[in-house]
Amino acid sequence: MTMTAGLDQAQTDASTMHTEAPPPRVRISWVELTCLPCGEVAGYIENERLVRPVYPGGIRLERGRPRCGRCSGLLFSGNRGEANTREAIG
Ligand SMILES: [Zn+2]
Repeated sequence: MTMTAGLDQAQTDASTMHTEAPPPRVRISWVELTCLPCGEVAGYIENERLVRPVYPGGIRLERGRPRCGRCSGLLFSGNRGEANTREAIG
């Protein structure tokens, strides 16, 4: 039947996996983390769980709370927004 033929084709042609397009709309809700003593943006929280420093070691987690990697100051959440790509954050 046609169903069987389609399955066989999918199994043998593994390269088609790579052509699968990602979901068209990836929403990243981000929050800016600013260090008050440094006066700089230390990084961002993406989707309320992924912490992404703007430079390596920029954010340390202490008991689940983000702290500045430079001065150990508490980080304040600043601007927030939504983006479709990481490049659009900030
Ligand atoms: Zn700091």
